[in-house]
Amino acid sequence: MKKLISILTCLIISTTICFSQGTNPESKNAKPGVIDQSIKIETDQIFNKLIDIRRDLHENPELAGKEMRTQKIIAQYLVNLGLDVDTNVYGHAVVGILKGGKSGKKIVWRSDMDALPNDFADPVAFKSKTKGVQHGCGHDVHMAIGLGIAEVLSKHKKSLSGTVYFVFQPEEETFIGAKGMINDGLFSKIHPDEIYGLHVSATAVGQITVKPNEMFAYQKRIRIQLKKEVSADAAKALSNKIYSTLARATEGSKPWDLQNVVDTKIGIGSPNTIYKDYLIMDQSFTNYAKNDTRFLEAYIYETNLSNVKNIIPKVRQVIEDSGYKEQLLSISYIQDNPTVINDEKLTNSAIKTLERIYGNDVVKTDYGQVPYFNDDFCYFQQKIPGVYFILGGSNFAKGVIAMNHAPNFQVDEECIRIGVKCFSSLVVERLSKN
Ligand SMILES: [Zn+2]
Ligand SMILES: [Zn+2]
Repeated sequence: MKKLISILTCLIISTTICFSQGTNPESKNAKPGVIDQSIKIETDQIFNKLIDIRRDLHENPELAGKEMRTQKIIAQYLVNLGLDVDTNVYGHAVVGILKGGKSGKKIVWRSDMDALPNDFADPVAFKSKTKGVQHGCGHDVHMAIGLGIAEVLSKHKKSLSGTVYFVFQPEEETFIGAKGMINDGLFSKIHPDEIYGLHVSATAVGQITVKPNEMFAYQKRIRIQLKKEVSADAAKALSNKIYSTLARATEGSKPWDLQNVVDTKIGIGSPNTIYKDYLIMDQSFTNYAKNDTRFLEAYIYETNLSNVKNIIPKVRQVIEDSGYKEQLLSISYIQDNPTVINDEKLTNSAIKTLERIYGNDVVKTDYGQVPYFNDDFCYFQQKIPGVYFILGGSNFAKGVIAMNHAPNFQVDEECIRIGVKCFSSLVVERLSKN
């Protein structure tokens, strides 16, 4: 998960009082089939091994583009499971292929591999051994889950209908790994029908959060170029005007404050969420002059696609109305990534499947779009319909808060068990559907 701002809005103490705790995903109404019951037992059997792998990866994090050791470990694990393994796709990517005994669909399970250039406090015994690098986004957890699903499903190889591709993708934080894999021919080597993946996050352990369509806001970084004769102060006043004209939020709410994302009344889990209709913009723009040009730059997060095309015309209007028509050189986006968009049919079907097998409490409906975060999984979704889930990683009672990219990011490792069980069952179900 790429975080787009460098300032960290850290949830710490207050979050522990306003979140509801997740529930065990084997609650009432659950109707697991025979294979789901074996998946549960097999997951429990390998759980400690997966914890060891996750901790080893946590102790030995590697930055985007440098995932050499990580690649070796993943590839070896998949080879040991008897999968066909391809490490010549792109960078340090690994693709493991599990071909079932019967014909059927082709499904990708994607995990990302890279760590962050951070040196934050990390209150665990298995801290990073590499100074300035740490798994502060939870990709170590994603890899453990990906390997776990591969191991569990490999035990059912003969009875599986179709093929599962385990795609381990490097360079997510820099937002270039998915694109790199696609450009280097991933989809000429494999031809999947559907793609799935997840991100561990600050919601409660035991909960899976998902929604059809946009999971995050559309993110842009806008650059306005003016003639240098516009002074720094005048440009600042102009950026204030742009901000006050464009920024939009439910009255009295603060969607820019990430602490509210998991609040039970206004967070993304509430139908009355403040996260479904907003435009968040940096209040103070980056303002600098170079040669004959003054630059104004700011991040923008917009929930509604239909509003996105109006942003630049609106900014232009404010500039012209402020008397700077002659001084305006250009307005453009210097960062304009797509956002994660879940296929509606597959999302609804996945929710039904997970609820049937693991009970009505396992999936929490997401009503909003989180600002600041994005995932280059979106590039895969442009090619293959897919679903991206948020997997709860916090345990508020224990003070474990899985706020990605924040100091003291910690994960309740039970989420690995939940991820392996739930998504092994989901993949099996999807393979059998025509
Ligand atoms: Zn991240
Ligand atoms: Zn991430």
